[in-house]
Amino acid sequence: MSEEKWVAAHKHYSGTIYGLEHHLSNRTLRPQDRQEKEILSSILDRVTLSHDGIDQYIWMPDKRGTFSVKSFGLELAKRTNMSNLPTFKGLWAGLIPFRIEMFSWFALLGKLNTKSKLINLGLIPPSESLCVLCESYQECHNHLLLQCDFADTLWKWWLNLWGIKWVLPSTIKLAYEQWQHPNHGNFFKKVWKAAFFIIIWSIWKERNMRIFEQKASPPCDIQNLILLRISWWIKGWGDPFPYCSDDILRNPQCLKWRGITTKLFRPEHKQCDWLPPPNGSLKWNVDASLKTSLPKSAIGGVLRDINGNFRCLFSTPIPTMEINNAEVLAIHRAIKISKGSDRLSQCKLTIESDSANAVKWCNESNGGPWNLNFILNFIRNSSKEGLGIEIIYKGRESNFVADSLAKQGLVKEDEFLAWM
Ligand SMILES: [Zn+2]
Repeated sequence: MSEEKWVAAHKHYSGTIYGLEHHLSNRTLRPQDRQEKEILSSILDRVTLSHDGIDQYIWMPDKRGTFSVKSFGLELAKRTNMSNLPTFKGLWAGLIPFRIEMFSWFALLGKLNTKSKLINLGLIPPSESLCVLCESYQECHNHLLLQCDFADTLWKWWLNLWGIKWVLPSTIKLAYEQWQHPNHGNFFKKVWKAAFFIIIWSIWKERNMRIFEQKASPPCDIQNLILLRISWWIKGWGDPFPYCSDDILRNPQCLKWRGITTKLFRPEHKQCDWLPPPNGSLKWNVDASLKTSLPKSAIGGVLRDINGNFRCLFSTPIPTMEINNAEVLAIHRAIKISKGSDRLSQCKLTIESDSANAVKWCNESNGGPWNLNFILNFIRNSSKEGLGIEIIYKGRESNFVADSLAKQGLVKEDEFLAWM
């Protein structure tokens, strides 16, 4: 690092620390913060500068010098003397997305920002301590993820699926240590491991939905969401698992599949040929599904950010109709949901459909089936109103998730809508 840059960086960080101390009126630095501040200053003071050479970022805990979540986790565990704890075993196996691995790791360490923690930090008043899922007990991580009636229902449901009786232990860490998979082959072993993290992640997401969005879903919806998440993340494992999301939803026992499995590995981050939306915007993939044997059709959609993270999902049964008409309804539903949400109303949106006809009708100022006039006009007006909506056509392969959501709608009575 050049000398000027170093001085600037040092000033910046010191300034930030002192600035924080000075400006946080309701939270002055605690003793441990001061300790950290001193450690940071002593690290910065020890740095020696070389005047030649090119500046570059090097991540010391990794041999290649590049950052990875795994090396970060291992390094932190080493530094905090926790490398021997069994809680880390199997956690960084790449069965679930990084952010959920990180979340699970925090959960196992009891480091989630639960209400108990926020009260201890003086960030919320003790009067706001109640668990939002049961409204009966104080929310700490063990209560929320394990002991709460809501959590208990989900754990028991999962165990019942496999005919297992288990007295839940007192802490989430113990639960993880005792999380023994039934013997249904190697593939199921991975499903079982992933399920633990997906269950606690789904409870946490529901808790946040209730606190920040004032929206509550019953346990049966969360159960579906758990199976859905399992079905999506299975796709990243590289196993030739032959079933799709709606197979799993209808019959979770298909997860006992005993085919040839690959070893646990960190998959490449690939999502078929799904392309991210332009910077600062979000993308809906929508789809429709019909089955001639059933007297109804269904539509589904998934909203993703530029990193491919799911933001919202819907799966909705509709009356039976021609497929292109149903595709128009799927586009319509995505716009309705977006317009009804505070956080999306200002957002630029791309809506991708695999029906060239539906996209054409929505983008033209008139035309399309007469019985859809009302719906089409709503769509056309919405794109005019400056909501920043672009409706585009894209082939089938990129639409895997939306397609599975639409298929699920066929077996449901009511709409399933979830925010991530
Ligand atoms: Zn509770």
